Amino acid sequence: MVKGDPSITNGVQRYGVTVNGFVRLKTLGTGSFSRVYLVKNQKQNYYALKRLSKAHIIKNKQIDHTLSERAILSRIEFPFIVNLVCTFNDELNVYFLMEYAIGGELFTHLRRAGRFSNEMAKFYSGQITLALEHLHGLDIVYRDLKPENILLDYQGNVKIADFGFAKVVPDRTWTFCGTAEYIAPEIIKSQGHGKAVDWWALGVLIFEMLAGHPPFYHEDPLGIYQLILAGKINFPPHFAPQAVDIVKRFLTADLSKRLGNLQHGALQVKSHPWFDGFNWNDLLAKQIRPPIVPFISGLGDTRNFDEYPDEIPQQEKVPTEYDAYFECF
Ligand code: AMP
Repeated sequence: MVKGDPSITNGVQRYGVTVNGFVRLKTLGTGSFSRVYLVKNQKQNYYALKRLSKAHIIKNKQIDHTLSERAILSRIEFPFIVNLVCTFNDELNVYFLMEYAIGGELFTHLRRAGRFSNEMAKFYSGQITLALEHLHGLDIVYRDLKPENILLDYQGNVKIADFGFAKVVPDRTWTFCGTAEYIAPEIIKSQGHGKAVDWWALGVLIFEMLAGHPPFYHEDPLGIYQLILAGKINFPPHFAPQAVDIVKRFLTADLSKRLGNLQHGALQVKSHPWFDGFNWNDLLAKQIRPPIVPFISGLGDTRNFDEYPDEIPQQEKVPTEYDAYFECF
């Protein structure tokens, strides 16, 4: 399911896509370097448009991450990963035009529910496991798994978004990145890291879905890192024994013992007893009814997203020597 190579420059010529072709309706979310809008084109089709300021990218040394996000997203086509339509740029910004995941962030649904049942957590972690299996098969490490980046489509199936930290890593890489609560110990220790960090993060996510809070929590990131390195997990009493087991196996500091990072990779994750009786083929074919079916009244509905205050637009010009970096958009 790898797309050819939809050259984005061709994409722009083919579709004539520029930011002027869209009506901007509402902010759906913000990232450290981005703002994502719901937009509508002249044919009344809705999309999510992610905008990143070129000046901001340069200042924060994010050129490589932005290019990598574009290169990776344009290669991937998978049911549980947000689909990129095309990218383009203008004088000040680069843009990613994506399918609109109308169901909102899993984070919102989790906070609303307090915590998820075992069946709900299995459904979401099952679809995420399939997505990670697909990415890792392409030597792509995702590196930012957390409930804010897991979106739902209109049916309630998972759509993973934000590939800003994703990277092609056949072996190991050293950049410190991720979100404190979800960071694996090998990243904190700067030991070099690879695909196993995504399985660690899935362990954190399963815990958070079942408990309603992450396993390592402190107000201060340094405090969080200390807790992660200490590796002590307090399991709430309502956790099923198989759930405790799968979380412990993912949250194993020793890479040679971490579930997902063993000889049979994702296959071993899928055959863990927590998933007993789970039909993986039905899950992939979207034949299992999602536990949350988002309520929507139309294709442009934004009720599943938070409200964001208006922004002060970035008008900072970009030195021309950087133009070449953004040519591919
Ligand atoms: P990002 O900068 O990619 O992390 O996106 C920031 C936020 O924008 C996400 O947490 C979502 O709330 C929202 N968002 C990103 N991509 C989409 C999408 N394709 N559909 C709907 N919302 C999105």
